[in-house]
Amino acid sequence: MLDQKLKERLKNIRAVALDGDGVIFTGQILEGINGSLGKLRSHADGQGISLLRSAGIPVACITGEKEIDALFLGKLVERWNNFPAAKAGKMPPVKLFSGVQREQKAVAAESWLRGYNLALSDCAAIGDDISDYDLLQAVGFSAAPAQAEEVIKKMVHYVTPRRGGDGAVRDLANLILEAKGIDITTLVIR
Ligand SMILES: [Mg+2]
Repeated sequence: MLDQKLKERLKNIRAVALDGDGVIFTGQILEGINGSLGKLRSHADGQGISLLRSAGIPVACITGEKEIDALFLGKLVERWNNFPAAKAGKMPPVKLFSGVQREQKAVAAESWLRGYNLALSDCAAIGDDISDYDLLQAVGFSAAPAQAEEVIKKMVHYVTPRRGGDGAVRDLANLILEAKGIDITTLVIR
């Protein structure tokens, strides 16, 4: 489990950055015979994002995907930002960066954080592949989903028990909120 130093880092986390494929989505594509495409994700993760936002922790999705691939995340973020609590200003908006390549992910995160008067050291990030390497190295707390590439799992502070698209984001959200002593059953997330 996490040592005291890491628990201290987690307690101070004030923002969270997520990768798209392999973190929010499983990383697989569902190809329909009529040409339609689909990606799988988990409601447990959506709930985790809502819990973080309800606790006042802003979330950003930073993906290298562009064009059709980026539409999936775009639609999702739009829905999250249309939640009544978000519209009422009770939840920070989810910020989406798409088409952002490896070394640019930390730059994008930094510019987003600056808007909240925060730095990369105040932020947690989760990613599954080498495109996330620089960002994971730069943040205050880094995580990888259970199925992430070995090279990533070896360099992060924490590997979630669940896989990307299937609870990994929720695992990280639970960990952060628990470290902060926030009882998730008391958060209003609608
Ligand atoms: Mg990925």
